[in-house]
Amino acid sequence: MSERDELPLDCVIVGAGPAGLAAALKFQELSRTDGDDFELAVLEKGSAPGAHSLSGAVVDPRGLDELLPDWKDRDPPIEAPVGRERFYSLSERRAYRLPVPPPMHNKGNFVCSLNRLTGWLAGIAEERGVEIFPEFPGRSLLRDGERVNGVRLVDSGVSKSGERKGSYEPGADVRAKVTILCDGVRGNLTKELLRGVPSATEGRNAADYETGVKELWKVRPGSFPAGEVIHTLGFPLPSSLYGGSWIYGMGGDRVSIGLVMGLDYEDPTFDLHREFQRFKTHPLIAGILEGGECVRYGAKAIPGGGLYAMPRLYGDGWLLAGDAAGSVNMARLKGIHLSIKTGMMAGEAAYRALQAGDTSEESLRSYQSAFESSWAHEELSKTRNFRTAFKKWSRPRAMIAVGIQSLLGGRGVFYDRLDHTEPVHKSLGAPRPPREAPAFDGKLTIDKLTDVYHSGTNHEEDQLPHLVVRDPDLCVSRCTAEYGNPCQYFCPAAVYEFDEALKLNPANCVHCKTCDIKDPYGIIDWVTPEGGGGPNYTDL
Ligand code: SF4
Repeated sequence: MSERDELPLDCVIVGAGPAGLAAALKFQELSRTDGDDFELAVLEKGSAPGAHSLSGAVVDPRGLDELLPDWKDRDPPIEAPVGRERFYSLSERRAYRLPVPPPMHNKGNFVCSLNRLTGWLAGIAEERGVEIFPEFPGRSLLRDGERVNGVRLVDSGVSKSGERKGSYEPGADVRAKVTILCDGVRGNLTKELLRGVPSATEGRNAADYETGVKELWKVRPGSFPAGEVIHTLGFPLPSSLYGGSWIYGMGGDRVSIGLVMGLDYEDPTFDLHREFQRFKTHPLIAGILEGGECVRYGAKAIPGGGLYAMPRLYGDGWLLAGDAAGSVNMARLKGIHLSIKTGMMAGEAAYRALQAGDTSEESLRSYQSAFESSWAHEELSKTRNFRTAFKKWSRPRAMIAVGIQSLLGGRGVFYDRLDHTEPVHKSLGAPRPPREAPAFDGKLTIDKLTDVYHSGTNHEEDQLPHLVVRDPDLCVSRCTAEYGNPCQYFCPAAVYEFDEALKLNPANCVHCKTCDIKDPYGIIDWVTPEGGGGPNYTDL
């Protein structure tokens, strides 16, 4: 194997999502103001910024207002300001309209495609001189004990002359004095970091996650106005499970529709994609989609544990921001504005530390202090017990508890503490027969493989595996009897098949990270594939 190339930088940001781009824009703004020329680069695993970005999404503009005060004059990709909002509890055939819970009010917010918003932000960052490197996936950290010194890129099956040759070209080492990890939910580098620095999660709640599946539909003209917002609870999820749906009206008679489910569920045969298809057969939803056509699909996990599950945000040479830091407010179903805010604060802390010539843990502590006195912390504090309520009680009781929490400024009823330490993959129970799937008619209800096609996913076949099952024998020797091989159900892209042995279809992987989170033995490591591999989301 040939020598690794080295790229020395002052600061490397991993992930060109909203957090990474906000960090870069803030860093660049301070450099310009002070006349410094620190070397900064943003690495992105996708084929372009936004290619792996997926969300509902209704955006609170607060983060953008701070990052780019003139953002409205820069032709932002807004679909529509939020108009009418409705909230329903669904039974199998009926919809009961309820008042919209106050944290979910969206006055002043706008509907957008996160994928397009990210591309737009990246364009502004590049205009301002930020170097963004798409197809540069970080495989591991360059660490010296708890000190992070940069990122090692994925070994590539493509030779320097561009040929595929059956052996691997070593990935370069990107060395940096500060590494800002914005590698998204369950980022492989953040996972490696938090395992190597146990003090960063000490005394915190175990991280909690949800997974969401989403389709984009072209609907009948006029059937669902742009800016209209619906959220539902209930069907097809039983009341013991945490989850719900969204339907957002976009421009051009398109509708964003999705179902989210907490990953702390027990039934090992639970299949979110299957239940999402069932959801669309409800008369309320079918009435919106009838005569339309599904044009896009995607899936993603969400770090929904809230403030009490967020790790320490800084350490020796490293900072965490955005979904990698768990800055999502599940009570509001929002995280993009928090990603932007945490990114900005991380970018500023990295810049100040470099200016002071000290990138030690002590020096980077300023980021945690800035976060704790920011509006982002204040907002997350008001919903700090939201997820715990749904862990302790079934949906109706949890909703009452959450209502009381909001009157008490976020304080929990009978509890206000960090008290759940069980990772979500421990919640699975014994195998049971799977729920029957609805008939897939290819119009309203769509099978997984067809939906994967709608995600534009593509991976080069000739590459090192990006789904590493560390002990495949366990799948047969224990998992079949103990859990019935839940990977074949929880993966929303039909990557895992089981028929006496495990068979993987990694080319289908939409990078949602559910397998890395929910596999009951914690033996699946999702790592970055070669650059550009994965979904190619557009308008999601
Ligand atoms: Fe998600 Fe894992 Fe399936 Fe990929 S293989 S789509 S990360 S569950």
